[in-house]
Amino acid sequence: MRILATDLDRTLLPNGSWPPDPGAIDLFNELTERHGVLVVYVTGRNLDLAENAIKEYGIRYPHMLIGDVGTSIRKYEQGTWATHGGWEAHIRQTSPRWDAQAVRAAIRSVDGISEQESEHCSAFKQSYYVDHARNETVLQMVDELVKGKFDEVIVYSYDSQSGQGLLDFLPHSATKQTALEYVADEHGVNKTDVVFCGDSGNDIFPLTAGFSGVLVRNADEQLVKNVKQATDTNPALRVYFATGGFKGLSGFYTSGVIEGAYHYGLFHDD
Ligand SMILES: [Mg+2]
Repeated sequence: MRILATDLDRTLLPNGSWPPDPGAIDLFNELTERHGVLVVYVTGRNLDLAENAIKEYGIRYPHMLIGDVGTSIRKYEQGTWATHGGWEAHIRQTSPRWDAQAVRAAIRSVDGISEQESEHCSAFKQSYYVDHARNETVLQMVDELVKGKFDEVIVYSYDSQSGQGLLDFLPHSATKQTALEYVADEHGVNKTDVVFCGDSGNDIFPLTAGFSGVLVRNADEQLVKNVKQATDTNPALRVYFATGGFKGLSGFYTSGVIEGAYHYGLFHDD
């Protein structure tokens, strides 16, 4: 079995400022079905927002949904979602010092951030909007107050749509990377047989973790730079940069995912 895992916003979903290829989503739906790959969405969205994306853009239902930036895993079977209880137990066991409320208290005094709405926060996710112009000062303050104290990982990303910075505190054992490793492991799939596609910020972890990585053509400059740095240090990393021009597709969003899946042989024409 092989796994096609992909971020949603601006990776599989054409919701950025570049023009999408009409028909790319239908093609993605058809190709994943035809090649029998296990489809995993790996997203910052919670379940409701992931459902909205599926309905709004017409992307197929995945077999598994890694949501809330890796802090939740769900299976989609016979038209319903089932929470993966084993994942929660695993997080608690492997990040014993994690405490969302303690993180919240620790950074109460930091200027330039505001807590995200309750639907974007959970027991395993404490999230903020950040004034992007002040992100360096903010991140430095946050590091001083939090880093290393709560078995946490601090993830900063920039939302090019809203112009806002997004700051997530997660248990270090529950990121997009570790959740995908958990899913791959559970299905007995080698890491190199997992293709992961991304475009920004928190996709850096799964893109440099030993999976077969794909950056869609519209990937953030910062992410491209970080990934190139990682491959310089570790030439064994497998990363493909979608360029477009493949089968008449642009390489943006869904088209980049398709191009990457062909590159690694998940999709083929015969
Ligand atoms: Mg994205």
